[in-house]
Amino acid sequence: MITKEIVYKKAFEDKKNSLKERKMQYDMLMSSLYTTEPRLKEIEAGLSKVGAQLAITALSGDKKKIAALKSEASALGKEKKEIIKKAGIKEFKYECELCKDTGYVLGKICNCIKDKAGKIMLAEFSKQMPIKNCRFDNFDLKYYPSKGSNEGENPKRRMTGIFKACKEYVLNFSPETSKSLIFYGDAGLGKTHLTMAIVSGVIEKGYLPVYGSAENLFSIIEKEKFSGENKGSYEIMLDCDLLVIDDLGAEMATAFTKSVLYNLINTRILSGKPTIINTNLTMKKINEKYDARIASRIIGSYDPHLFLGVDVRQQKAIEKQEEF
Ligand SMILES: [Zn+2]
Repeated sequence: MITKEIVYKKAFEDKKNSLKERKMQYDMLMSSLYTTEPRLKEIEAGLSKVGAQLAITALSGDKKKIAALKSEASALGKEKKEIIKKAGIKEFKYECELCKDTGYVLGKICNCIKDKAGKIMLAEFSKQMPIKNCRFDNFDLKYYPSKGSNEGENPKRRMTGIFKACKEYVLNFSPETSKSLIFYGDAGLGKTHLTMAIVSGVIEKGYLPVYGSAENLFSIIEKEKFSGENKGSYEIMLDCDLLVIDDLGAEMATAFTKSVLYNLINTRILSGKPTIINTNLTMKKINEKYDARIASRIIGSYDPHLFLGVDVRQQKAIEKQEEF
């Protein structure tokens, strides 16, 4: 399991290496230009001579002489630039002018590093799950009917609201202030799709979520606990910017997983960190399958979103068949 520290360390290293490489290439081009263009050396010598004279003249206050020296320096500088340009060498530029590729602005991590960290994380997450297929822009509301549902509510209207709420969730995401959510409803209604879109949006903002099915997350914790090989995954799940527990209820609930689940939910509520749970279970079923403490923590602290509609996966499968 990757941690924020690892990702940011890598982002800083990448930045440092890329700067070093680009500087080296530039220096090599320039030093070969100095051998083919002897005039450059003369200009260089002229520039330092003028510089020294300027420093002395500045003390005398002779404005006329200062102006003359300044214009001499600028003419030399211009000539130098032209020679370099003629040779086809582009001026050395930082990737990020804001931090001059140091990664820090006024003691704070620069946005260019956050962008880089986001990309590293996305690449890492894409290895584990189909994150690229589940985006906001390919979530299609046409699959949700405008009429009829068991709850007597318009599924399209409800899903449009949920879709908007998810986008806003990403827009305003903060590990300190964002609320925990529970997405519930029948299978195939887009719970995982929207959750993954949230996950990738949050990653793009430079945060580090942890995503997994309940079964996977619990089995990682179980293995690390009982094999004696603790990689700190449990701590990461307790502490990460956003924890996503997908498909809660599909796993075998044991006394161990129940206590882990309660601890994850409760600790993150106490530290004010957001969690998103997806489940096909109703609140009543959660109460029955786990225990009242878990259900009451969720009811008390999570924003519930009931997904309505007709199995989208089935509809898409039928569409595919009809194409042939
Ligand atoms: Zn920067």
